[in-house]
Amino acid sequence: MTQTAPDGPQAVPVDDRTAHAAGEEQFASLDPRTGEVLAHHPVHSADDVAEAVRAARPAAAWWRDLGFAGRTPLLTAWRKLLLARLDELLALISAETGKSADDARIELVLLIDHLHWATRNAGRVLGKRRVATGVLLANHSATVEYKPYGVVGVIGPWNYPAFTPMGSITHALAAGNAVVFKPSEYTPGVGRFLADTFAEVVPGRPVFQVVTGFGETGAALCRSGVDKLAFTGSTATGRRVMAACAETLTPVLVECGGKDAVVIAEDADLRAAAEAVVFGGFTNAGQTCAGVERVYVADAVADEFTALVTARAARLRPGGDPDADLGPITMPSQVEIVRSHVRDALERGGRAVVGGVESVRPPFVEPVVLLDVPEDSAAVADETFGPVLVINRVADADEGVRRANASRYALGAAVFSRSRGDELAGKMRAGMVSVNSVLAFAGIPSLPFGGSGDSGFGRVHGEDGLREFAAPQSVARKRFGAPLNPSSYDRGSRTLRHVVRLVRLLHGR
Ligand code: NDP
Repeated sequence: MTQTAPDGPQAVPVDDRTAHAAGEEQFASLDPRTGEVLAHHPVHSADDVAEAVRAARPAAAWWRDLGFAGRTPLLTAWRKLLLARLDELLALISAETGKSADDARIELVLLIDHLHWATRNAGRVLGKRRVATGVLLANHSATVEYKPYGVVGVIGPWNYPAFTPMGSITHALAAGNAVVFKPSEYTPGVGRFLADTFAEVVPGRPVFQVVTGFGETGAALCRSGVDKLAFTGSTATGRRVMAACAETLTPVLVECGGKDAVVIAEDADLRAAAEAVVFGGFTNAGQTCAGVERVYVADAVADEFTALVTARAARLRPGGDPDADLGPITMPSQVEIVRSHVRDALERGGRAVVGGVESVRPPFVEPVVLLDVPEDSAAVADETFGPVLVINRVADADEGVRRANASRYALGAAVFSRSRGDELAGKMRAGMVSVNSVLAFAGIPSLPFGGSGDSGFGRVHGEDGLREFAAPQSVARKRFGAPLNPSSYDRGSRTLRHVVRLVRLLHGR
């Protein structure tokens, strides 16, 4: 490991995070605000991961055979248990990530809502349904149903350590799969908490297990023979995960980073837009995959909009206390990336109207707002993943859309316009778009979430998110013999000619 723990009186170099206890290699999870050791967790080896997947197999069959009706009360009981212990989970998330109490609350509210939606809708979306047969095989009936894969591996990031992986875990479980989850090395305690609470409502069956450790443990999960792998994390790791899964042709869902843009049109409600952009840029200290990192504002309203953003952003207070507006940068190595983006932007002609390079005070980064940053600089082209907003002036909303779409990422986006909201949204190259708000798509459980390009592929949440974790099985059943039967060598010589005539009649017009 090359990273170091954050500066601070009790900082622990990451090399010292591992230890041995009772013959087991362990690592420490740390509070990024202080460097304090919170707990030790096992470093699971490839053998441990293989054992977890082996143990999951009979549990997966049992869970699948419960059917939607059998799983619903158990998933409901889990949701209620999570709600009963919400304060405990909130404190754990804040301790492992450093995020403020309100940032943790946002995460948990969304988690519960999505779990409820998946539980309630899995049967409707995935259950057996009749489909039309068409004329050629009208003597058949046809059904399709979505069957669970078996054992699903989930690899999650640290920035929303409960909400983000649960987007895969809850939908995989609701679809009838067992899950083996590898949380980030920065948030193993949150992963443990989720699996332990599930085990309280489903005791004695390893339907949802957690394996902990570093990247090697995640790599072992990719090669463990799971039936599908759902990864959420950086684009660089996503590539490695895909390559590892290719060895065994394990299907993958890859949710990676973003560089989300907001377009502010000439007719936008500027006050509402500024308020939303400040939230979208600085919530969770900018460590949000679909957070706002770029803003393109129409020239006619650029000065007024920038003044509103500047005034609001300058009042935000970073800190390690529960009431801070934004917490620390959780992953120590990210601090340097944030600093380099700000420095590069300023050296290349950008202007800071809030903060600057001096705002980077590990483990905290105070809000930074940059103007007129060249489009090919790192602060515009690469994921910053810190509380840094770039506002660039454009001639009009259409130029804003063009520049927004020039990114190699394509995760979320937002547009602000009183008259052209839907039209501009339709032109955005993004998996999700909010009109006159930011990040709203993440809070609507029926909307699929995911992107394309360097943001990955596949979807979590909503109906598409359920279907990611189940494979369709089509069944055609014969009801009676048809007068024309081409699927037999005993068909008369004229049978297929009649069928062709029928097809011409039906589809030739
Ligand atoms: P990383 O890519 O560093 O890590 C993600 C997970 O992959 C961690 O559990 C990590 O383990 C594990 N991992 C590391 N190396 C390997 C490997 N070789 N094989 C398998 N697994 C491995 O991402 P971060 O945790 O830093 O998360 C931040 C990133 O996640 C940002 O880019 C953000 O945009 C993205 N993200 C995307 C979301 C989306 O829905 N599109 C949502 C939330 C975040 P370990 O931590 O132990 O190294």
